[in-house]
Amino acid sequence: MTDSSTSTATAPSTAPDRTPRRVRHDLRFRQLTVKTVQRVTPHLVRITLTGADLAGFTSPGFDDHAKIFFPDAATGQLTLPTAGPDGPVWPASGRPTMRDYTPRRHDAAAGTLEIDFALHDAGPATQWAEQAKPGDTLGVGGPRGSFIVPTEFDWHLLVGDDTALPAISRRLAELPAGARVVVLAEVDSEADEIAFDTQAALTLQWVHRRGAAPGTSAVLVDALKAATLPAGDFHAWVGCESAIAKALRAHLVGERGANPKWTRASGYWRRGAQATHDSHDE
Ligand SMILES: Cc1cc2nc3c(=O)[nH]c(=O)nc-3n(C[C@H](O)[C@H](O)[C@H](O)COP(=O)(O)OP(=O)(O)OC[C@H]3O[C@@H](n4cnc5c(N)ncnc54)[C@H](O)[C@@H]3O)c2cc1C
Repeated sequence: MTDSSTSTATAPSTAPDRTPRRVRHDLRFRQLTVKTVQRVTPHLVRITLTGADLAGFTSPGFDDHAKIFFPDAATGQLTLPTAGPDGPVWPASGRPTMRDYTPRRHDAAAGTLEIDFALHDAGPATQWAEQAKPGDTLGVGGPRGSFIVPTEFDWHLLVGDDTALPAISRRLAELPAGARVVVLAEVDSEADEIAFDTQAALTLQWVHRRGAAPGTSAVLVDALKAATLPAGDFHAWVGCESAIAKALRAHLVGERGANPKWTRASGYWRRGAQATHDSHDE
């Protein structure tokens, strides 16, 4: 006989599972060819890559990154590592120049992969993208892993600068119809704004640097501080210059009740340093 008054059994929870999941992928290095080059805005170049090596490419996480390998600027030669059991095995000739980029759109049927390059003052990746033309070669490593963020939150917050536009575009495309999402995006001016394809209920605010050097302007932090945010549980995602990403996360967790476990803030680049990737998560 069961005494219900003393039973400690609880009804099964109906709360959605909001635990993010990590997925690993086999490491692959691919040599791809530029199919098209499109100047989307004054500060954004979209490179569409193609090639037989693209077979098997997978990128299920909206903020996945691939390692992009650039040909030697002097010789035009592209050097790629091979995949060893413990990671990349580098050729004796050394490591090529490499940077992290978001696979913005992979179309397996068309055999294409789009990468959006935010253009800035100087850097080998920016320089390569500015001069890229159909027929050029590029190396792509990974993604080695994906971080899958569930969509079952009351609402979503996405904050970033030019470098985060590909990840933000992907998240907006994958959110279910009617999902509530607030986006704060920093670009130089109205001319650098892009269109987003989404079925979500999007509240979009662009903020503009207006000629200030990227990474030096407080516009994104000020816009977040001034924003009226919806009530309810939310997942916050931040991608931009590292110190700014850190400040945005501190404000969200410290002042806006963001759950640290549901707040993912990355420094996609760091002012004054090359090729950085900072995670400001706990
Ligand atoms: C996970 C991840 C995903 C990313 N996805 C993308 C993406 O899809 N598209 C994209 O454009 N970028 C993306 N980035 C950012 C990109 O990797 C960096 O901006 C990279 O440093 C650019 O390389 P570079 O050779 O042009 O400049 P670097 O040689 O790395 O740096 C040269 C100088 O330029 C500065 N600098 C670097 N990036 C910028 C910038 N964006 N604006 C202003 N100054 C800068 C540096 O502080 C340094 O002083 C991503 C980064 C990460 C970590």
